[in-house]
Amino acid sequence: MTIETGMQDISTGTCVKFVPRSHEANYLDIQPKLGCWSYLGVVGGAQPLSLQTPGCMWAGVASHELMHALGFVHEQSRSDRDRYVTIIWDNILQGQIHNFKKYETNNLNTVYDYNSIMHYGRYAFSEDGDPTIIPKPDPFIPIGQRDGPSPTDIQKINALYNCSKNVARYKSGSGKRRPWRFPRF
Ligand SMILES: [Zn+2]
Repeated sequence: MTIETGMQDISTGTCVKFVPRSHEANYLDIQPKLGCWSYLGVVGGAQPLSLQTPGCMWAGVASHELMHALGFVHEQSRSDRDRYVTIIWDNILQGQIHNFKKYETNNLNTVYDYNSIMHYGRYAFSEDGDPTIIPKPDPFIPIGQRDGPSPTDIQKINALYNCSKNVARYKSGSGKRRPWRFPRF
């Protein structure tokens, strides 16, 4: 299952586990709506996350949208992105400029990650086929991979969800390692 693989690629390296909803008030409602999209972080209640078939049926795309739900913006939206990429504003499709805005992110002591599954490709929302994002200083660094979470993506999730602490607590408390049941959706 593509979506399950996308979940496993996140849970394998982190303390974030995805479990079927039973009675949780806040949860992800994954549906094949129009396009691949997710809200940022927990919005409460039945939280839609769209993975259209067949266009979004890739494990890496599922991991990407799940990372949005876990609270992560696109890598090129990081507060420090201007040191690592140039946004070519003139090449961006009209009406899509908002996809390139910067956020005041907590970068969790990680370095800018061209290999992040949250990074756009260089032709994202291109108006005329010319690049919209160019890495610097080396313009040929690959960006936009959707194979799976990068090592730094995994590191970020572990940092945001305090994974070393949470796993350790369960381990010492019960004598056996139980999965950290978060997020509760
Ligand atoms: Zn995205």
